[in-house]
Amino acid sequence: MPDNKKVIDQLCAGTMPDRAGLKSLLSCHSEEDAQYLFKLARHVREKVYRKDVYIRGLIEFTNYCRNDCYYCGIRCSNKNASRYRLSCENILSCCDKGYRTGFRTFVLQGGEDIYFTKEKLCGIIEKIKSRYPDCAVTLSVGERDYSDYLAWYESGADRYLLRHETALPGHYRKLHPDVMSLEHRKECLWQLKDIGYQTGAGFMVGSPFQTTDCIVEDLYFLYELKPQMAGIGPFIPQKDTPFAGKSSGTLEQTLFLLGITRLMLPNVLLPATTALGTIAPDGRELGLRAGANVVMPNLSPVSVRDKYSLYDNKVNTGAESAECLELLERRIEAAGYRMVTGRGDYKV
Ligand code: SAH
Repeated sequence: MPDNKKVIDQLCAGTMPDRAGLKSLLSCHSEEDAQYLFKLARHVREKVYRKDVYIRGLIEFTNYCRNDCYYCGIRCSNKNASRYRLSCENILSCCDKGYRTGFRTFVLQGGEDIYFTKEKLCGIIEKIKSRYPDCAVTLSVGERDYSDYLAWYESGADRYLLRHETALPGHYRKLHPDVMSLEHRKECLWQLKDIGYQTGAGFMVGSPFQTTDCIVEDLYFLYELKPQMAGIGPFIPQKDTPFAGKSSGTLEQTLFLLGITRLMLPNVLLPATTALGTIAPDGRELGLRAGANVVMPNLSPVSVRDKYSLYDNKVNTGAESAECLELLERRIEAAGYRMVTGRGDYKV
């Protein structure tokens, strides 16, 4: 496929290929094309971030959720989910443990849980930031009002992760109930960016009903939004959801999309996700070799980890957990990179 190399070179030169070019690259490429892409992606990531890999301590602080996304294990209608919320003290002790291990970013992620009002979350952010002024706080709590986003930013939150999930309205409809809308999700993303957050969008690879056209739109949307972070990981079914019987996204396709995203957004903070580590034992290392530069070990209390089950078989021990940071460090080094202690901000 001689044309594929041309499309990859185009991405590398900072030009967005047309939809047809991207579509044919995505739908048919050889192993040689993939290796060519990864080599360029590593080159670009090393130009911007050298060999550094940033770590983020992930604190899954609530699995209550008002939404009912068909793919997600903590959707509100999953009666088998055993619900929990961490207290402010619990969250702070996760940060404390993380700080001592070397984390300088804490990611507070949860379902859309309005128990955590604007004010409550402001209080938590302020406590974290005053105790650890050298740390960044990332929020990932879904779609909320502009005034909430603004207040949290003013309380000191630095970054916000909100995957758009899919950029085609028709596909969005097949993954979410009618009360949710792609339009609103995108609007939130523009607001977050506008407020000043380092903002992350992203999508699942291989989600049910996803076509190559969906992925082309996802890439175009990322190119348009120019987020500072991009969360791209494989869909994995969860047994208590309507998508229980669907198949997972593949390692191959996820890696390929990480590589494309790195070329398209050279400075992006791009995690090798837990989901990638779940579908393949060396998934995260391969992700780093494809252009990723962030890993997010789990800092949640061990007692709640099984309850934050977005998908089945989620790995949360070994190199995926904050307890085994040394193991993770060795694996990052074996992949040719180095784990660094620091906030790991977006480089402009
Ligand atoms: N409530 C927050 C956090 C959601 S969980 C929000 O709305 O942003 C974080 C991410 O996990 C989601 O954005 C989704 O892309 C991913 N996720 C959820 N279910 C998944 C599944 N079954 N397989 C893979 N990823 C999943």
